[in-house]
Amino acid sequence: MAQITAENLEKGENKTDFSQIFDSVFWCTACEIPLLAPECPICLSKVRRCARDLKPVFAKERTLFESLAGTTLPTFLFANKNHVYFNGKTLFSFTTDPREGPRIVLNKLQRLHNYESHIYQEHYAQQQWKLCLEANQQILEKIEREALDFIQAEANRFSDRRRVVAFSGGKDSAVTALLVQQALGTVPLLFGDTTIEFPETYEYAQRFAIANGFDLFVEKPDADFLELCDELDPPSRVMRWCCTVCKSRPINKFYNRFATKILSFDGIRRMESSRRAEYPRVVHVQKFSRQVSARPIVSWSSFTVWLYIFQHHVDYNPLYEYGYSRVGCMYCPSNTPYNDYLTKTNFPELYDGWTQYLLDYASKTGKQDPEGYVLDGFWKSRKIGKDRTYVVDRIKPCEQTDEVVYSFASPIQKELIEFLKPFGSVSVIDLPDSSCFVVGSHNPFVITGSIGDTQLSVSFTASHHHLTKLRIEKQIEKYLNCVQCGGCLGVCPTGAISIRNGSYHIDDGLCTRCGRCTTTKYLKEGCVTLNFSAKKRAIRRE
Ligand code: SF4
Ligand code: SF4
Ligand code: SF4
Ligand SMILES: [Zn+2]
Repeated sequence: MAQITAENLEKGENKTDFSQIFDSVFWCTACEIPLLAPECPICLSKVRRCARDLKPVFAKERTLFESLAGTTLPTFLFANKNHVYFNGKTLFSFTTDPREGPRIVLNKLQRLHNYESHIYQEHYAQQQWKLCLEANQQILEKIEREALDFIQAEANRFSDRRRVVAFSGGKDSAVTALLVQQALGTVPLLFGDTTIEFPETYEYAQRFAIANGFDLFVEKPDADFLELCDELDPPSRVMRWCCTVCKSRPINKFYNRFATKILSFDGIRRMESSRRAEYPRVVHVQKFSRQVSARPIVSWSSFTVWLYIFQHHVDYNPLYEYGYSRVGCMYCPSNTPYNDYLTKTNFPELYDGWTQYLLDYASKTGKQDPEGYVLDGFWKSRKIGKDRTYVVDRIKPCEQTDEVVYSFASPIQKELIEFLKPFGSVSVIDLPDSSCFVVGSHNPFVITGSIGDTQLSVSFTASHHHLTKLRIEKQIEKYLNCVQCGGCLGVCPTGAISIRNGSYHIDDGLCTRCGRCTTTKYLKEGCVTLNFSAKKRAIRRE
């Protein structure tokens, strides 16, 4: 076995060894155990590939599978997505209908006839886990060592940054926290509480932090999730505004309390999803402009994480015992129908509350078949809204000048000035019956307007102003649509953007006019409503 090093992992060159370790779980038929490496150190016999990944099936989920299979199941069971394995072979596969729940679609239960009755007893599972941990110990130690070296190296490389561990209450962030603690000593845990986590996750987060001596910082959004749903419509798979508003914003607010930059260790793994498959191990994440993320276990399989948990007796979130493969938000549009089924059967009150909200939403918004829209899961695939109401007209008063006038349907509010601050210094002239403002008098353009008036004028003194015009217009549209969600806080590298007394605000003293919050590149994180709201107030541009 070649040595596992950070360099090799990053290069991905060592396909023969590392792809085998991290892309497959093997099975020793003689010892009846899963293995990380394609050789069994216990019996030295040849092993075969079992699955891409495996997770243990706990007693609670086994009971559910037993009712599905209509028979008693063995105790040393594993699963990967919708496939259930015993002794390295598929026992059955299932599919989950959003309304009816799971049903078996591939039945190999007759395979159980080849085994003695001891496989149904609890002590069989205990004995096999003991053997499994022993067989995988050496390779797991190497993998752990590599992760610890990586953490140490990144901490040295970014020694001027404040360190945190991004803690979600899931198994991957728990293992990451313990690895970071082992490598660097105790680092604070930062828990972005979306307010729609399972009650189990809240209890577990506190318990884990206390038991392991971590400081736990729980950061919540200011706005209520359901109120935001009223404002922006419920999140869907392509319109996940909640990640920005409910998770990133509180974390960015936390970062803005410190003057320093941040090195965040997170437990993201490439095998979690196809979207994450290409994730780098160290990255500057756009929506956290102050943060570098380092991912010690990015290449680990779920099976590796579980081995670590059992080897080190780590307390894990009890939701995994129900069968959840991920323990994210209760109402996440990315939850699989099987995860939703687990919530429906194990936490009916939580499930019913959200279902009722969605049914009301579907009726209110005139969906043809509200029940089907909700119960068949169509709400999850709601697309980005294209509805626009034009409330500002763009006028070119005269062909001879580069002036553009924006004519608003309703009087300009003071908040517009905040959105124009990235374009230059602001002068406000208070007159007896109004306040005039001038932005960017030293720039190749000047913006002038008056609070309470309906016209905003932009005079360009340079001919190449197309991009500037686009940026100004984006800021105007942000102003027209802003719901003060704070989702754009993280875009600003100096922490100049904030929501004060329910209004969008840019701190003139902190704003360096870098323009980042106004550029298309950062639009995705730049404004939640512009990206996700079904209905937008817009500028008529013809
Ligand atoms: S519900 Fe899903 S998309 Fe929304 S914050 Fe939670 S994990 Fe992110
Ligand atoms: S991103 Fe740049 S332009 Fe925008 S508020 Fe922050 S410092 Fe100012
Ligand atoms: S500008 Fe957009 S992202 Fe920022 S607070 Fe307003 S609505 Fe939210
Ligand atoms: Zn063996």
